[in-house]
Amino acid sequence: MKKDKYHKIHQNILVWYAEFGRVTLPWRNTNNAYKIYLSEIMLQQTQVKTVIERFYFPFLEKFPTLKELANAPVDDVLKAWEGLGYYTRARNLHKTAVETNGLLPNNAEALEKLSGIGKSTAHAVACFAFNEPLPILDANVKRILYRFFALTSCNDKELWELAYELYDKNNAYIYNQSMMDIGSSICTHKNPLCDVCPFVSLCRGKENPFLYPEKKKKKKKPVRKRTLMVYYQENKYALVQNRERLLSGLWGFKQEEDFKMTRNSTEIGTFKQHYTHFTLDASVVLVKNKHQEKYFTIDEIHDLALSGADRKALALVEKYCE
Ligand code: SF4
Repeated sequence: MKKDKYHKIHQNILVWYAEFGRVTLPWRNTNNAYKIYLSEIMLQQTQVKTVIERFYFPFLEKFPTLKELANAPVDDVLKAWEGLGYYTRARNLHKTAVETNGLLPNNAEALEKLSGIGKSTAHAVACFAFNEPLPILDANVKRILYRFFALTSCNDKELWELAYELYDKNNAYIYNQSMMDIGSSICTHKNPLCDVCPFVSLCRGKENPFLYPEKKKKKKKPVRKRTLMVYYQENKYALVQNRERLLSGLWGFKQEEDFKMTRNSTEIGTFKQHYTHFTLDASVVLVKNKHQEKYFTIDEIHDLALSGADRKALALVEKYCE
């Protein structure tokens, strides 16, 4: 039988993974689809180290199964997600738990129809939990493909075609795990180590990996100036539950764009919070006795899910009231 043109590379990857693969990662020592799915969602915007050290295990302790996650109020899920950011992930996780009644389907086609599960995540869960031999296409894989095929620009459809062309269908599990490991330790953004890369023999971009893909000029992020209003009565502070898409479901202090200071208001500090598409330049103002709907003690606020910006504002309130 004629050997696949990538046969040698696939062999290199198997050898490389046996020696250098991150085989001890907790979500690699299980075929529990929920645990694998959770890790995939957490890792979408967050580094492995942060996920392992701070979020993965506490989340599983609170919601050991997808069924228990489905039965929990979404507020509890958001609270457990606090600090990870990109809260849509947590809301979709909960939605999927409810939609599936705690049992994930066992194939990529059905997984992809669920809330918050894109094609690459569906393939990853199907491959790692159910041995479906499919390629993945996360940010690490994309970078490797751009460089391996020396592409300056490419759309997702074309990248998927190349992902299918290059992957090892006979060892999809190891191939996909290796792609993630090679992308984060060898074919990195800033320091590609081509000499020790299993792809090097056929890599077309190895002479100058930085050419692929062509860099887009970074747009300067807009700055939004806001006042965070901390209305208070005695030792209680007013919070509202957010309805905006980005922070929907989280609690926070009211924000105003053009607040004018009065004799009932005191500025207690300022801070900046960086989001993906803008920077929040916030001033935090205590305002006395203005009627708001819901007031909470500091202890009660600590039990609510707050955004990073509102946590910073709360820290200023606590410091001011010491
Ligand atoms: S040989 Fe170099 S550029 Fe090519 S995939 Fe490996 S690390 Fe990346």
